[in-house]
Amino acid sequence: MKIKVDLDACLQHGQCVIAAPEIFSFDDDGNLQWKAAPDEALRDDAEAAADACPEQAIIVE
Ligand code: SF4
Repeated sequence: MKIKVDLDACLQHGQCVIAAPEIFSFDDDGNLQWKAAPDEALRDDAEAAADACPEQAIIVE
């Protein structure tokens, strides 16, 4: 599984961090970080984060 985030669209709401904290987080500077190739076991979380993103900035492949 691969996850991409369109950072031009991302407004740093953090909904993805709430939905999938094992994949998404904010660093100390408030920038979004994520696992680009997380384990397949996290697919449900990844898709929940993509659904929760108000900007539809998360692409799960
Ligand atoms: S929910 Fe979407 S817009 Fe908000 S921080 Fe996550 S990727 Fe960015």
